[in-house]
Amino acid sequence: MKRLVSLIIVTVILALAVSPAAIASPSCSCGQSPIIFLSGLGSASLVRDAGTQDEQRLWKIDEAYLVSEFLKLAPSVPKLIANGDYDAFGDELIKTINTVFGDLALDGDGVSSERVTYELREYTSGEHGLDRDYYFAYDFRISPFETAALLKTAVETVKELTGHDKVSFKASSMGGVIAMAYLSAYGTEDIDKIVFINCPILGTEVAGELFTKQLEINKDALIRYGEQALPALDNDPIAAILYAVIEGLDISGIWDMLLLTADFFIDKLGEKVLNEAVIPIFTSMPGLWAFVSDLYFEQAKGAAINTETQAGLLSKINDYHYNVQNKASEILNNAKADGVCIYIIAGYDMQRTPLVPSYLNDSDGTVDTKYASVGAVVAPIRETFADGYTQAVDFSGINYISPDNHIDASSCALPDNTWFIKNMLHCNNHDGHRELYRLMFESDTQLTVFSDARYPQFLQNDKDNNTFYEVVPFENYTPMEQFMISPTLLNLVTLIAFLMKNFSILLIG
Ligand SMILES: [Zn+2]
Repeated sequence: MKRLVSLIIVTVILALAVSPAAIASPSCSCGQSPIIFLSGLGSASLVRDAGTQDEQRLWKIDEAYLVSEFLKLAPSVPKLIANGDYDAFGDELIKTINTVFGDLALDGDGVSSERVTYELREYTSGEHGLDRDYYFAYDFRISPFETAALLKTAVETVKELTGHDKVSFKASSMGGVIAMAYLSAYGTEDIDKIVFINCPILGTEVAGELFTKQLEINKDALIRYGEQALPALDNDPIAAILYAVIEGLDISGIWDMLLLTADFFIDKLGEKVLNEAVIPIFTSMPGLWAFVSDLYFEQAKGAAINTETQAGLLSKINDYHYNVQNKASEILNNAKADGVCIYIIAGYDMQRTPLVPSYLNDSDGTVDTKYASVGAVVAPIRETFADGYTQAVDFSGINYISPDNHIDASSCALPDNTWFIKNMLHCNNHDGHRELYRLMFESDTQLTVFSDARYPQFLQNDKDNNTFYEVVPFENYTPMEQFMISPTLLNLVTLIAFLMKNFSILLIG
């Protein structure tokens, strides 16, 4: 009898030992799938020679290290000025870039040097909720499919720890690329909801332009770029003064002069530095190739990939481009048909870096609005559709054109589930955003742009008050606001006329 009891005890212990999940996590009844946060490109610190004396962070790099390396260029500057020898200076600059970033380059198969590593986060707690998500950090350089495989393991761990049979993704920027690769490779079985925030699902034009070595500086774009960096333009007197200075420099022609100098350097040095340092390093990374839009993909491959020495890399980038980016609409629609709730957030009306030909593409500053929204028709930044523009896709009278006559969402992969936030800078969230995301994660059913009157399809970001309001037509702004949004001569004249009229009313009154 005693022996039988001990046999039973041993059996029970063994059974528990082989299936720890069975006791660790009875199924959870909170009704809220645990959320895995798929962060953007900077989610993991990449470290060279970790654990040694020479340990150096290469991504999220130490500023002191960066400055000390670039300061070594200082002695070459007087020589450059004296001899005008750009090649010699270029060589020094390239050497420095390679010292600092060279070890980030992957090999011809798109595989990292063993010297460069990062720490994969381990999840140990089963605690979960809307305010407690699981942070998924990854190496942005490798193929999104390889990252998706790591994510699959993370999904299994989270399910086991929390006792849920599904998880939700909150994807920010590049996190959306990883989510898309995940859907393509592993389907929807484990997925409850996905919120995509400013994600380059169809790429971003900047990547293709850099990979095909197209650089140009546009003055108007540079001015807008400078001005949008100024906080709360309308209420801040210092910002208003800076704004006036930026505009003043423009009128006095100083910007033109500065730009000529910048163009001169780009001409003299740009091509060499791109060819010998930037392009070889960054085009070795399949993760960054996922950002190249279809518009430039073939051209960029032709320019940057050696089909013999980089065959492995080529196959990885083709795999993502043709099977995920090119099929984004199909993947998203299939996921929705499988019952996954999908939400897409795209920002607009922010000037992107003025260094590239696509400076007129409207964006959140980083990702083109047409790509983050998976297919909207978007007018050039600060412009509206021509008179008589008709919606790209007719949905029996349902209107998908923005009140500011700037975006047509009817051609989106999921027109009913795509929101546009005017003036939202790439991945800059405030409590108003978080409230919107919370609503999306909390809802048992798929919400649409018609579900909640507080959140129509087109929202104006109100950073000062942590909220949104509905986008209003341009005519509804005051002349002062119109001039601030679009500082054209016509709007200036309108503003002056308005001020004079009001001034005379004051005098008469
Ligand atoms: Zn739960």
